[in-house]
Amino acid sequence: MKTVSVILPACEEEGNILSAAESLSAVLKATDTDYELLFVDDGSRDKTWERIREASAADRRVRGIRFSRNFGKEAAMFAGLEAARGDCCVVMDCDGQHPASVLPEMLRLWEQGYEVVEGVKETRGAESAAHRAAAGIFYRWISRATGQDMAGASDFRLLDRKVVDALNRLPERNVFFRALSGWMGFRRTTVTYPVGERTSGSSKWSTRALIRYAVTNIASFTSAPLHIVTVLGLLMLLVAVVFGVIALVQKLAGVALGGFTTVILLLLFIGSILMVSLGIIGYYIARIYEEIKGRPRYIVAEELGPEKTE
Ligand code: UDP
Ligand code: MG
Repeated sequence: MKTVSVILPACEEEGNILSAAESLSAVLKATDTDYELLFVDDGSRDKTWERIREASAADRRVRGIRFSRNFGKEAAMFAGLEAARGDCCVVMDCDGQHPASVLPEMLRLWEQGYEVVEGVKETRGAESAAHRAAAGIFYRWISRATGQDMAGASDFRLLDRKVVDALNRLPERNVFFRALSGWMGFRRTTVTYPVGERTSGSSKWSTRALIRYAVTNIASFTSAPLHIVTVLGLLMLLVAVVFGVIALVQKLAGVALGGFTTVILLLLFIGSILMVSLGIIGYYIARIYEEIKGRPRYIVAEELGPEKTE
């Protein structure tokens, strides 16, 4: 029998662990696939780990990994993918927003030979207008950068063992899971799902965290901002030539006086473009520095569940 590993990143989800384990078990028992539920506790300070321990004690198909601190959802997903033993992996949130009822459909498509089954949001759930607008801009950018339609994309997806192994072999640390699994290719298809309401607790994403997430992911996927610097430089050169000619003509005609405002404006303009450009370049250098340090993506403090047999 084939096995599916369900990977559930959890950060402060004490109220959701047991219900997630329960509803997933119920759904998966009804399929003809064996399963393991792999909770990754991403440095929760509440009772999340205790709940995972309870679930694992009650059912040996529940495994747990506890990070030594919060390393972020991206790291938690990759830790799960590295530890998973199934013939395919499903990554999903454990807060009830990714409905377990979609799993049988995903597994059916996988058995038909698809290697990646992406969950696509049917609706975006309850969100503020500002959040929706910001998400819209972010997804337009990232869609262009990755050359795939990312609107409605989520981390909810099924990956075949082949894809998981390929992902695990990628050397980079800062990765954007959603876009990366698209970049890898393979035979892909999608299923749509309605975004549910959180069963308990609240989302840990602050606006600041979301902005950081967006910037990091754009930078990890595209070097376009660096090319913008070049384009700005060329535009400035053009302006410089025009003003240069004007200045020379005025000088030769003997009317080179005044022009103080122009000088100030040009100084300010060039100064700010230079600073912004340096900032963008600096940002990428910082990313290179981070990558080159080669630190692990996460540190595991504790593991739960049956040892690997074979
Ligand atoms: N999560 C995580 N580490 C974090 C933040 C979130 O593992 O630093 C998990 C969280 O427990 C949940 C999933 O990622 O299972 C999605 O998080 P959340 O519901 O807060 O985000 P949203 O649904 O608003 O995208
Ligand atoms: Mg959520």
